[in-house]
Amino acid sequence: MSARILVVDDLEANRRLLEAKLTADYYEVLMAQRGEEAVQLAKRERPDLILLDVMMPGGIDGYEACRRLKAMPETRHIPVVILTTLDDRDNKVRGLQAGAEEFLTKPIDDVQLMARVKSLLSLKIVTDELRLREANGRRLGVIEELRHDPLEQLRLSAGNVLLVDDNATQIRAMQAALGIEHRVSLLGEEAHAGPPDLVVVSVAAKSFDGFRVIARMRSGEPTRHLPILAIVDCDDRKRAVRALELGAHDIITRPIDEDEIIARARTLMRRKRYMDALRSRLDQSLELAITDQLTNLYNRRFMNAQLGPLLQRAQCGGDQVSIMVIDIDHFKQCNDTYGHDAGDAVLREFAVRLATNTRPSDFACRMGGEEFVVIMPRTAGDIACLAAERLRRHICSSPFSVPGLPMPLDITVSIGVSCAERGDDTPDTLIKRADEALYEAKRAGRNRVIGRTGAQAA
Ligand SMILES: [Mg+2]
Repeated sequence: MSARILVVDDLEANRRLLEAKLTADYYEVLMAQRGEEAVQLAKRERPDLILLDVMMPGGIDGYEACRRLKAMPETRHIPVVILTTLDDRDNKVRGLQAGAEEFLTKPIDDVQLMARVKSLLSLKIVTDELRLREANGRRLGVIEELRHDPLEQLRLSAGNVLLVDDNATQIRAMQAALGIEHRVSLLGEEAHAGPPDLVVVSVAAKSFDGFRVIARMRSGEPTRHLPILAIVDCDDRKRAVRALELGAHDIITRPIDEDEIIARARTLMRRKRYMDALRSRLDQSLELAITDQLTNLYNRRFMNAQLGPLLQRAQCGGDQVSIMVIDIDHFKQCNDTYGHDAGDAVLREFAVRLATNTRPSDFACRMGGEEFVVIMPRTAGDIACLAAERLRRHICSSPFSVPGLPMPLDITVSIGVSCAERGDDTPDTLIKRADEALYEAKRAGRNRVIGRTGAQAA
């Protein structure tokens, strides 16, 4: 994963050192030596990550630079790692409060540097994707225009924190600190809090193996997206690295600093909310991509995607696949006489009857206009013809009531059925045979089913 990283430090030696470490891992490095310069450069160059020294004499310091970066829409999504000197507690907390995602202490440990850089860059990829989808969704009118930046709203609000620890004093301290913003519960007592948004696991615990807890959470389906904050003993670099390798998103050292854990929890929750929002947007856009907006049936794109693989399976000796192509009789006349709104109402009512008269394993799709296709997996031609006949009867059994029209409309359909077994059928030839059957049904007077299945096709 290559990326551009902006290194900001007033001392040239520090800049060069970081540049050497980062370029050795094939990152592209930009450099600035003052706060103002960093803000301008970030705005212009849009790096993927910023490593920001807090102590910079003259002009604005690292905190102020961080605040400005986080205040500008063009740069607020770029993760910032502040660089402090070892044990400079106030600096860490002030940096995180200024909006920085992480901190690193100087002298910078190679393992910690790379772990943080990788984790933040992967967060950035998710965030960028989310921002892009938001922008596209708004442009297409799929996602409504919000007055506030949706990412801003995701930054706030309380969540559920689950503590996995056996140290009573430490637990009390965390409950007090995290309880200000979040609902905190202990493992085994989390029943009332709902699913967690963050898990804090001690890998310094005596009564259980914290690494095992982390590994299990990472591999379990319901928990693998949960952010994990690992508690490690101060100076226990080996266990810190191990926790990160196993999938902890961040580490905090004992004794736990209350302000630090508050800031870290906030950052991790934000990451989780971004990810959740992205996943739900993905689901939404996937659904939009395969759904016909008027009828809520599947669309042509979905049909094409389904039919090919089903046919291939049938040809390799798998189950037969049948399709029916359905056309609403005299639909153009209906549109011309009663208008397009009435026509749309007929299409919607037809879609409801179609969807409720196909099996759960069938795929009912709208091809466009008044033409529909039902894919019937694992269905032989004769069964498909019976299903089509049942549907035809159901459509004409009672007239369609259309809002705005004084009289309900009598609607009928013509249906052509085709079936693929072994052979060299493609989605096109299968649909073509069903289409031919459909035209035959139309020519023969409409409101009927014609099958081109099995023996007839041969
Ligand atoms: Mg400095």
